[in-house]
Amino acid sequence: MSQHRPRIGVMGGTFDPIHHGHLVAASEAAAQLELDEVVFVPTGRPSLKQHPGVTSAEHRYLMTVIATASNPRFTVSRVDVDRPGLTYTVDTLVDIQRERPGADLHFITGADALEQILQWKDADQLWSMAHFVAVTRPGHTLSVEHVPVGAVTQLEVPALAISSTDCRARAERGEPVWYLVPDGVVQYIAKHNLYRGHHE
Ligand code: ATP
Ligand code: MG
Repeated sequence: MSQHRPRIGVMGGTFDPIHHGHLVAASEAAAQLELDEVVFVPTGRPSLKQHPGVTSAEHRYLMTVIATASNPRFTVSRVDVDRPGLTYTVDTLVDIQRERPGADLHFITGADALEQILQWKDADQLWSMAHFVAVTRPGHTLSVEHVPVGAVTQLEVPALAISSTDCRARAERGEPVWYLVPDGVVQYIAKHNLYRGHHE
């Protein structure tokens, strides 16, 4: 019965590029919530952000595959990349539930992203679809209102000031991104000349 219900983490993100903040957050959530698997879901076109020239979905998908390949509990889903139009969390959860019938879904987000997601009008629907895991820096408290009791678990992740925005800015200036992102992602960025003033 319930002990056989797989516990699946869902880590949505633009992953432009994926960095060690994402990976540590997923790993911490997996350990603390005893998840069997964490599915990384790169967005198609993110609805909540459109920084100029978001890198093509295929590049972001492949960087996510490279970054997660060595962890047996990490997988990557194409549901958002392959769905036309903007990406909404509700669609992500419906598709992952369809791929993993009966799974107990845990949607992992940074506290900042959770605050944005909950501004959408269909937010109430989300609570019945997944448990939410809000990743915060030590000392940061979550400021979301009208959350059903028990719907959100807060998880402190050790000081990770890494952001994709900073990684892109560094790459654009020709500064190193070593150790902020996995080695294979450093090499992928260089190979495809990503973030160097032109966007594909
Ligand atoms: P950008 O700087 O372009 O906004 P980002 O670094 O926030 O990128 P996203 O792809 O937007 O990366 O984030 C995907 C998810 O990972 C979001 O839920 C976000 O809150 C969370 N996240 C991002 N950076 C970190 C971090 N350093 N530690 C923990 N969670 C993070
Ligand atoms: Mg962000």
